[in-house]
Amino acid sequence: MFQCPHCKNKGIGIWAKLWCGSDAPAQCKYCGELSFVHSRYRFGLQSARPLIVSWLTIGLCIYLFFVSHPMYVLLAVPFIWLAGRFWALALLPLQPITQQQSVACRQFGNGFIVVVAILVITGITIASL
Ligand SMILES: [Zn+2]
Repeated sequence: MFQCPHCKNKGIGIWAKLWCGSDAPAQCKYCGELSFVHSRYRFGLQSARPLIVSWLTIGLCIYLFFVSHPMYVLLAVPFIWLAGRFWALALLPLQPITQQQSVACRQFGNGFIVVVAILVITGITIASL
């Protein structure tokens, strides 16, 4: 469980934090308030350490495989990657968000998809003329 930015209780579940975004925020089970992990953190900019450590460990596994050929070293790679992702997840800060802000983000996202769809359809129509 992770700490809620509103009430400071550990009310945010692991899966909720893993999948939350500004358009689909995680809900605290104690106070019911919403929070999310900002999308800029999802690209690893603020959590470089877990990414670097997991890549170095994976690199070491591949190196060991080429040096001494034990198959089990390669089996460890996905587990190291997963552990790195969970480590990164635990470090990411949750930001508070209101229901109105979340709805606004969702509407913006939907509007963006509609604009992209219109551009794609227009492009296909022009190309087929
Ligand atoms: Zn809370």
